[in-house]
Amino acid sequence: MGAPEAFTQTADIGHWIAGAVHPGSGTRTQTVWNPATGAAARQVRLASVDDVNAAVAAARAAQPAWGEMPPIRRARILNAFLALLNQHKDLLAAMITAEHGKVFTDAQGEVSRGIDIVEFACGIPQLLKGDYTDQVSTGIDNWTLRQPLGVVAGITPFNFPCMVPCWMFPVALACGNAFILKPSERDPSPSLLMAELFRQAGLPDGLFSVVQGDKVAVDALLTHPDVKALSFVGSTPIAQYIYETGAHHGKRVQALGGAKNHMVVMPDADLDQAVDALIGSAYGSAGERCMAISVAVLVGDIADRIVPRLAERARALKIKNGMELDAEMGPIVTREARDRIEGYVGIGVEEGATLVVDGRGHRVAGLPGGFFTGGTLFDHVSPAMRIYREEIFGPVLACVRVPDFAAALQLVNDHEFGNGVALFTSDGGVAREFARRVQAGMVGINVPIPVPMAWHGFGGWKKSLFGDMHAYGEEGVRFYTKQKSVMQRWPASIAKGAEFVMPTAK
Ligand code: NAD
Repeated sequence: MGAPEAFTQTADIGHWIAGAVHPGSGTRTQTVWNPATGAAARQVRLASVDDVNAAVAAARAAQPAWGEMPPIRRARILNAFLALLNQHKDLLAAMITAEHGKVFTDAQGEVSRGIDIVEFACGIPQLLKGDYTDQVSTGIDNWTLRQPLGVVAGITPFNFPCMVPCWMFPVALACGNAFILKPSERDPSPSLLMAELFRQAGLPDGLFSVVQGDKVAVDALLTHPDVKALSFVGSTPIAQYIYETGAHHGKRVQALGGAKNHMVVMPDADLDQAVDALIGSAYGSAGERCMAISVAVLVGDIADRIVPRLAERARALKIKNGMELDAEMGPIVTREARDRIEGYVGIGVEEGATLVVDGRGHRVAGLPGGFFTGGTLFDHVSPAMRIYREEIFGPVLACVRVPDFAAALQLVNDHEFGNGVALFTSDGGVAREFARRVQAGMVGINVPIPVPMAWHGFGGWKKSLFGDMHAYGEEGVRFYTKQKSVMQRWPASIAKGAEFVMPTAK
């Protein structure tokens, strides 16, 4: 299985506009790294305002006919795309590992979770069914339907270069919109392969575009009058900026931000399961997941039993090039990100937390230039510390000890982020109480990373989401469509004479 020609031809990674690879008019580029070796792999072109305008113009020209097309015919094109995605699953996963660094099997999982949403979007005829009331008043019927917004855009983070765009574009396109993706400049290649697969699936040109770039491209999308809605996933300061700027320009915005996900471990939890869950969710993908667990809340006497077990496992992590199939953790995406993470470890030490396992300076044999760090474990972390309050976005697990369930719940609820949260317990009553009272958007009971499936929708609370609607699922369908209410009667039922009072049911 080789890469499609359009993908392999250029040394620079370009845009995808009007159904083809496009070099763009901008002269700025940025290095894309191979994080496992530390070598500069390729350059990605950074879009100019003109490039964004060209993508929007192509989208605007293509969208009306697409919006008019019966949903079942749109679904057939998505079905063809789905088949191609399945065929190219491993190629996409390898591209992700090459630029992001996560281990190949995890990248395969990412692609699969993206594919789930394409499958969900193939059911769009059912999802777009409106509702209807016969006889709201004598001789009058009323129904609602949902229509596309027009041109919409998505701005995505580096940590899921396939799955997070898939949270957006399958639903947006299925609903009859044209979609412009601005992927992360750190791992831009999977977006182009997906664009090429859409071309092969028969999607009309202009409906799916990719503009590579940075703030220049984002700001052009945020202010363009023809872009009607923006979906964003990334860090909280940028999410807030996108939400405020997009709203100021009259756009519909959903902006998903950062996280600091807690896992509460009750004294009655199965110890082996809790250890496995913490190790996998804190160090999987090197902690570069918005649903990674970065805080273990250890209740009562479980702390003394669990910390030594975590330490042993953190020290034994298999940290390698992600393409090695037994790797458990790969490198960090860039040198700067690795240095930032290791800087936080230093801050934690200065703040007085107990450094149980120090991942700094980890070297991998044969890969001296790779952006590696080891798994770090802190104990006796307190809520005032920066390593507790701030998102580190790396393989650093902070253990906080609390006396009881009430203190654990209070701790979670007082944190400014509210993306995912988990509770490990064997007590159904405690689990129920937790799920009802915890202030977070996604809750796992004995599930460490409760990423909702394609038809449920994804979103956090508090500073983890700016906007009203979650990503994908039925919330996604609502986000990418506007509701219209139609009220109708026919001449035979219309009474003669002007009515000057507010109409009521008769
Ligand atoms: P980021 O905020 O740096 O970048 C996200 C996107 O915004 C990128 O496309 C980037 O080009 C763009 N961008 C960056 N700076 C900008 C600026 N000043 N103005 C306009 N656009 C800008 O995030 P990242 O480092 O790529 O990803 C990691 C972050 O994403 C973490 O905070 C993580 O928690 C978050 N994340 C959240 C979720 C979620 O569902 N809540 C999912 C994945 C990642």
